[in-house]
Amino acid sequence: MTNIAFLGLGHMGLPMAINLHKAGHTISAFDLVPAAIDAARAAGLTVAESGVAALPGAEVVITMFPSGKHVIDAYSGPDGLLANAAPNTLFIDCSTISVAEAQEAHNLAATAGHRSLDAPVSGGVVGAENGTLAFMIGGADEVVAAARELFEIMGARVVHCGGDGLGQAAKVCNNMILAISQIAVSEAFVLGERLGLTHNALFDVAAHASGQCWALTTNCPVPGPVPTSPANREYQPGFAGSLMAKDLGLALAAIEATGVDAQLGRHAQQMYAEFAAGDGAHQDFSGIINTIRTKG
Ligand code: NAD
Repeated sequence: MTNIAFLGLGHMGLPMAINLHKAGHTISAFDLVPAAIDAARAAGLTVAESGVAALPGAEVVITMFPSGKHVIDAYSGPDGLLANAAPNTLFIDCSTISVAEAQEAHNLAATAGHRSLDAPVSGGVVGAENGTLAFMIGGADEVVAAARELFEIMGARVVHCGGDGLGQAAKVCNNMILAISQIAVSEAFVLGERLGLTHNALFDVAAHASGQCWALTTNCPVPGPVPTSPANREYQPGFAGSLMAKDLGLALAAIEATGVDAQLGRHAQQMYAEFAAGDGAHQDFSGIINTIRTKG
């Protein structure tokens, strides 16, 4: 049994904390938003008055925050988590943040005498609730080993991607593939429409040919061929356009930091930033097909 301070009880964090609690771990939970604290209390979690107040006795601190700034701010300063945790506490940040911010968080933790992991997830709220998230982890082997049991409660797949920040690196690279392939599939369906192809005919060919990919066979952007895809329910997410736009912003930061000639990644970032600035923010990201259809 591990004593865990779990901070950030939003869409993802609360169900993750509940799964750890159900598995027998002792949770001291906190969020800045009173409604999130009420939901945690209603779920049977012990709640603290602040992030620092959740620390006494905690061997592990898990954060699940909206952005890297939230993580760095919470970690830093004399009133921050790092300065007030017991020596050698294990800090696990599951938020999706930039590679550079993740490396900064690791450096801050190490300087303060703690161990740390970047451990972003995929799988969404359903994965968080069902304990089937995929974890992409950056950090030292022995630190990953110490936390593996916790990841296996919250997730179904745990991949140690390498050293500090490389969990976030894997996350941005994967989501850049996803964004580009969702746009490619959407453009192909709109082109097929203009050429007189039915959606089913194009699907039946591409799903069994070299065009096959998740964006086609699971998240098909037109209604019909894949009855469970968001296109069949007015593009309710799924994975919201706002989250895809956020993740592509992190990919763009990595592209610029490395100088890679990632032209499609840059273009996908622009397209999803525009999509998320309008109705697309709350739609599944496969709704980008409607932008493509109406623009041309
Ligand atoms: P959310 O906004 O629902 O929850 C984040 C919570 O963190 C909020 O309740 C906020 O009040 C809290 N918070 C912020 N600063 C805090 C602090 N200092 N102390 C305590 N609580 C604090 O966001 P979410 O949907 O749960 O996503 C969390 C992270 O997971 C994000 O980085 C997101 O990109 C990533 N993610 C989300 C999904 C998804 O489908 N929602 C999927 C994969 C990854």
